[in-house]
Amino acid sequence: MRMRGAATLAVLSLLLAGCTAGGAEPGAEPSQSATTPTGPSEPSEPSPTKADDESFSPGLDPDDPSLDVALSRPVEDRVYPDVGDPGVDALHYQLDLTWTAKSEQLEGVETLTFRATRDARQFQLDFGRSLRVKSLSLDGEEARFRERGKDLVVTAPVRADQRYTLQLHYDGTPRPVAAPTTRSDFSTIGWQITDDAETWTMQEPFGAYSWYAVNDQPSDKALYDFTLSTRSPWVGVANGKLRSRDEEAGSTVTEWHLDEPAASYLVTVAFGDFTMTRDRSKGGVPLTYWTPRGDERSLRSVRVARDELGWIEDRLGPYPFSSLGFLVVDSDSGMETQTMITLGDTDYTLSGAVVVHEMVHQWYGDQVTPRDWRDVWMNEGMAMYLQLLWESQEFGFPINQTLAGWTAEDQRLRSSAGPPASYDPSTFGEGNIYYLPALMWHQLREQLGGRQFWRLAKAWPRSRDNGNAGYEDITAWWSQKTGRNLRPMFDRWLLSRQSPPAA
Ligand SMILES: [Zn+2]
Repeated sequence: MRMRGAATLAVLSLLLAGCTAGGAEPGAEPSQSATTPTGPSEPSEPSPTKADDESFSPGLDPDDPSLDVALSRPVEDRVYPDVGDPGVDALHYQLDLTWTAKSEQLEGVETLTFRATRDARQFQLDFGRSLRVKSLSLDGEEARFRERGKDLVVTAPVRADQRYTLQLHYDGTPRPVAAPTTRSDFSTIGWQITDDAETWTMQEPFGAYSWYAVNDQPSDKALYDFTLSTRSPWVGVANGKLRSRDEEAGSTVTEWHLDEPAASYLVTVAFGDFTMTRDRSKGGVPLTYWTPRGDERSLRSVRVARDELGWIEDRLGPYPFSSLGFLVVDSDSGMETQTMITLGDTDYTLSGAVVVHEMVHQWYGDQVTPRDWRDVWMNEGMAMYLQLLWESQEFGFPINQTLAGWTAEDQRLRSSAGPPASYDPSTFGEGNIYYLPALMWHQLREQLGGRQFWRLAKAWPRSRDNGNAGYEDITAWWSQKTGRNLRPMFDRWLLSRQSPPAA
């Protein structure tokens, strides 16, 4: 995600501008008690369903080896433990979504292929409380379930390492959920509906569950296919490649395929009056820009991606996915949604700096993803650092002045939001996880020299392609590759409540 602020020119004010709080709802999503999938309880309010033969399709073969790329080792999140279920390893989500703007109704047919990670009598997914399940089946048989707060609990026995197909029909008007942050550019996360009944999503660190049933925790990456329907000339846009687009009885139907697994916070779907423009980066990556019809300004802005992508590839290596798109929506923020970056329609979020920032995340955040929210610094530190280097080159100012400004704010950030890798859960996404690890990477670059630093900065995401990593992994990897014990340095920057001593 981008850090808010007029970062490019106001060098010293970047930090302060970025951290201005206000207008946001503080506090996390009201907590829901986590369920224990192995628990003995029967549903208190059983909701048996009638499986409708016509409405359930067999879906994918769960044992298809092409799904193996999405095998994960899901964990319980240490920062937001109320979201996600480590008993579920989602492999593939097929989401058939129809948006009716007039009534603001979403109708969904979801087919989830997953692996159970343990023997259990029940399992659960995160699922928005404003949505209603109309029917649900497991491997083609109707199954019992209950909706408890934001948890959809399916009461059916599952065996460790067996794969299953869960299918559900649901509808409702999705409501976003409160964001655990004090930032001013977003206060709710998940599905958003504009005044014109267009829709878009941003959902970091969670909130995908506001519009589909999902294991909404970053350690569980999965493959996605989408079929999106809405009244023409509006169109539905999602991650991955556009496979088809048809007009049927006044509706636009698009099919999207994401061919590498993504964490749920990196999924995007929008319905609206978008125009698509095709492009290609100098390195040959196919690009698409989805901008509001007639909005030449936003199209001109996002087109800088064509050249900027090459600038990033010079530092981080070849772009890690098979396509890249940009989706411009009515937001104040920007989000690195995998292969289809979602950008708010503001001067700053459409600036070259933010476009660079979100593209860097395709390597740092999307190709390799934090195992849980404790380590979101792994994403933001490198994105912020490369953003600064790009701005410095583009606008011709030295980085040292900016770095000094960040250093001057270090202690205040640690004191207000916590150390970058041990932050206060109610202050998600504050300056501490951006500027402090960026300073750390700069110091490490000075120590190692640019050649070794960039060689390793390039090698790390590739070494965890389509995977997840945590604090122990990345600190051990950098130590091993440099032949130095870097753990004390990482700890000092990322875990200490005191600013590190000047280098
Ligand atoms: Zn970011």
